[in-house]
Amino acid sequence: MAELFSLTGHDLLRRIERGEVASSSILDSVFARIDRVDTKVNAVVKVNRQQSDIAPKTGRLAGIPVLVKDNICVKGEETTCSSRILEGFRPPYDATVVKKLKDEGALLIGKANMDEFAFGSSCETSCYGPTRNPWDLERIPGGSSGGSAAAVAADETIMALGSDTGGSIRQPAALCGVVGLKPTYGRVSRYGLIAFASSLDQIGPITKDVEDAALLLGVIAGYDEMDSTSVDVPVPDYTRSLQKDVKGLRIGVPREYFVKGIDPEVEEAVRRGIEVLKELGAKVSEIHLPHTEYAVSTYYIIGPAEASSNLARFDGVQYGYRDKDADNIIDMYVRTRSKGFGAEAKRRILLGTYCLSSGYYDAYYLKALKVRTKIKEDFDEAFRSCDCIITPTSPTPAFKIGEKTGDPLSMYLSDVYTIPANLAGLPAISVPCGFSSEGLPIGLQIMAKPFDEETIFRVAYTFEQATDWHKRKPML
Ligand code: GLN
Repeated sequence: MAELFSLTGHDLLRRIERGEVASSSILDSVFARIDRVDTKVNAVVKVNRQQSDIAPKTGRLAGIPVLVKDNICVKGEETTCSSRILEGFRPPYDATVVKKLKDEGALLIGKANMDEFAFGSSCETSCYGPTRNPWDLERIPGGSSGGSAAAVAADETIMALGSDTGGSIRQPAALCGVVGLKPTYGRVSRYGLIAFASSLDQIGPITKDVEDAALLLGVIAGYDEMDSTSVDVPVPDYTRSLQKDVKGLRIGVPREYFVKGIDPEVEEAVRRGIEVLKELGAKVSEIHLPHTEYAVSTYYIIGPAEASSNLARFDGVQYGYRDKDADNIIDMYVRTRSKGFGAEAKRRILLGTYCLSSGYYDAYYLKALKVRTKIKEDFDEAFRSCDCIITPTSPTPAFKIGEKTGDPLSMYLSDVYTIPANLAGLPAISVPCGFSSEGLPIGLQIMAKPFDEETIFRVAYTFEQATDWHKRKPML
């Protein structure tokens, strides 16, 4: 029989139900796997070995290990966003998603590595050191939820949660050959997610296949009075959308996503993926999203602006690290922030503060908000003639560790294809659709209308059932 750590959540749930395996054996298997491979991958920053007794024996995820990104609060567990400035911070409460997981019997096995405060596309800015891509340890796993995606790919957990502000669930999922879903803005409560950019952030599943993503989203989704941006619409049973059927479904393929900068192997894999759906009866047509070229610049005004405001609270007084050598309070703020934040966090704070300062606010921030509306309108228009939009997830497969650290701009371009969905608030998934000639995974992105995760699951499931890409495992 296959090792338990290598199985999916839905498979394990069936085995538990039939009495074939006990959740304690699943936990043992996963912990042994972490002990064996995480010295190489560095995806898991904290392991919680003593929690088997607190979980109820019933629930939709009873007995299933879940790893959460280190920016999601777990009561009493150190939560740092992989930043020195939050060293020693133990939240006094659970994030809503964590509470929901516990209520459904999931086992929270620990915290996943990430880019500091989720700033990045490579998982290299973590205070715990970089996570490595399980498919090639010299390469990055993507980011910022690189720890979550690498851990799922390396079978160090059964499922994981990530967060996505500009692509941080989908891009690492693509680069690690797993499934990653950013839900509609407002679908999942952000209460207890340490904020990066509050108008863009969403928590979502990173899993081994589409069925697990549907299962996990069903558990974490829903209105929460603790998050005023969560939306009160009913949560469907997403597992019902897992049908093998795309007959008559209208797929839009935006011309603007297949331009200069895309790796030819990525383009080929994605186009082949679209062909698979066409052969199964989907109707494919070219569409236009004319403001696509402004998405990255718009995001790098709005994202840092909101981040600079959200990060103002980390000043050595209430949370985490405090510099002890200062003579007065101003000096304490300055020294704490200078030592506590890494280079990329400082860059974002400077950029954001600049864009929001009087005199520049109208020229940059307000302008960016207007362009954001244009980008949203592009999608509204496109969805008049199609049910979903398919694009690559990332313009290239995983790059080498260190390759882009000296060039922030080229790093920022890793998210050209994922950022528009955040700006428009749309749901989007990345599913494996091939491998490069160097053996690196490639992901295909499916976007749909707000709150239409069901169409995404239907298309993603049909594609997955017709292909084998998600079944491959890295050699570790
Ligand atoms: N890579 C993007 C950034 O650096 C997106 C990060 C994210 O989604 N958290 O901001």
